[in-house]
Amino acid sequence: MKKYVLALDQGTTSSRAILFDSGQRILGQAQKEFAQHYPREGWVEHDPLEIYASITAVMMEVIAQCDVAVSDIAAIGITNQRETTVLWDRHTGRPVYNAIVWQCRRTARIVDGLRSSFEAEGRGGYIRETTGLVPDAYFSATKIAWILDNVEGCRRAAEAGDVLFGTVDTWLLWKLTGGAVHATDYTNASRTMLFNIHSLQWDDTLLSKLDIPRAILPQVFPSSHLYGAVNIQGTEIPIAGIAGDQQAALFGQCCFEKGEAKNTYGTGCFLLMNTGAAACASANGLLTTIAAGADGDRGVQYALEGSVFAGGSVIQWLRDELRLITEASDSEYFAQKVADSGGVYLVPAFTGLGSPYWDMRARGILIGITRGTKRCHIVRAAEEAIAYQCWDLIRAMEKDVGGPLKRLRVDGGAARDSFLLQFQADIINRVITRSAVNETTALGAASLAGLRAGLWKDREALLGMSPPGTDFVPAMEDSRREALLAGWHRAVSRSLAWAE
Ligand code: ADP
Repeated sequence: MKKYVLALDQGTTSSRAILFDSGQRILGQAQKEFAQHYPREGWVEHDPLEIYASITAVMMEVIAQCDVAVSDIAAIGITNQRETTVLWDRHTGRPVYNAIVWQCRRTARIVDGLRSSFEAEGRGGYIRETTGLVPDAYFSATKIAWILDNVEGCRRAAEAGDVLFGTVDTWLLWKLTGGAVHATDYTNASRTMLFNIHSLQWDDTLLSKLDIPRAILPQVFPSSHLYGAVNIQGTEIPIAGIAGDQQAALFGQCCFEKGEAKNTYGTGCFLLMNTGAAACASANGLLTTIAAGADGDRGVQYALEGSVFAGGSVIQWLRDELRLITEASDSEYFAQKVADSGGVYLVPAFTGLGSPYWDMRARGILIGITRGTKRCHIVRAAEEAIAYQCWDLIRAMEKDVGGPLKRLRVDGGAARDSFLLQFQADIINRVITRSAVNETTALGAASLAGLRAGLWKDREALLGMSPPGTDFVPAMEDSRREALLAGWHRAVSRSLAWAE
């Protein structure tokens, strides 16, 4: 009987490997940062070879560190930064250009052109209806088009079948299998803006509008699937799970049922709710995406997704720019020293506001300041702002599904902050549960792989191993909650449409 599952977590700033035992306990982990390239204002790139080197380095490091026999590893699961785009030469394995990272804005004009082209045909809703996404440079489609158009000879090579495209999971899978497997999973495919999330096929209309040859695209499989094998020290280990980071976290949090949701408080916040077998179209500015499933051929599950741009980064801003705190964890301490924010609101619209406002010209404001405003009030207003923004997302989601969240599970770096979570529970008036495992993304990838490899039988087995976590129970009076939220929305209204 095999004993372990290895999760490879390829994130935006670092690559990590975590080894789980058959009880889903963490045996060891290794992490390696890699370079961020900013060749121009608003452009972000990674070196795909450095990403691959960092993943293999942490993989070997964790195996050595835990001193386990490679033959005892049942499977590998991959989870990754989503949307980031790599094109490479299928013969030499050399990337034709750096990876264009999800944050990169260089293709905003291509998106405008695409949108106008559909509008001119009277099909303005096509992208939304087909892919579940709001047309944006964030997703892979226009990044692929940019590389094909801007790298000398690339389009010709792609048309001749010499170039392959992949999101980061696909790139790693291809490299780890020695070029044998060119595939991705439904969750990653659903973030390319080229995938029909209903028919589960690449969409010919979008491919033709962007002039992307079909031959460069990977095959698409369920998240829990035998993708191929990687040879480590002479032993073949199956790669049996793949999912994009947020969907992996949803799975790692055991949100298997319709109505179950998780919110990750990282640099930004990502709220995902499982909506079951039906894709739920949002009327409130959320995205529809495919959830990681372990259903094999029984079809896929969908999720609604909303994100807050400035989450934990608000705390970093207090620390690094305002210098009101010296460590992120000080924010909880200062926020608790006062009974309220003294009427101060911070709207951290540093880069505009996302769902449900979608105002790229909104900018941050600090409002309600008086001569008596102290550091603690500002810190508290910053903490509260994270929770208010998540309230806006949760509200949008509840409106879309026509009912309350079943439960909200939370994780991420800023979820260590108990003040924030208590305030969040108070303001949404729902119980929230902080996961006992902070590595829910890696756990999700491990679970998907371990299920397929037979180390764990089914979802019930996963639920059985999931430790209970910590509950935060709402305890705020309705009148206070309503007054605070009214103040927040008044503050937001002052921050909108500010930038020229
Ligand atoms: P990411 O995966 O986006 O890099 P993490 O999940 O590692 O993010 O979380 C990092 C974020 O959490 C940072 O923005 C940091 O400010 C915030 N953070 C970390 N510790 C705390 C804390 N104790 N209280 C509040 N915020 C915190």
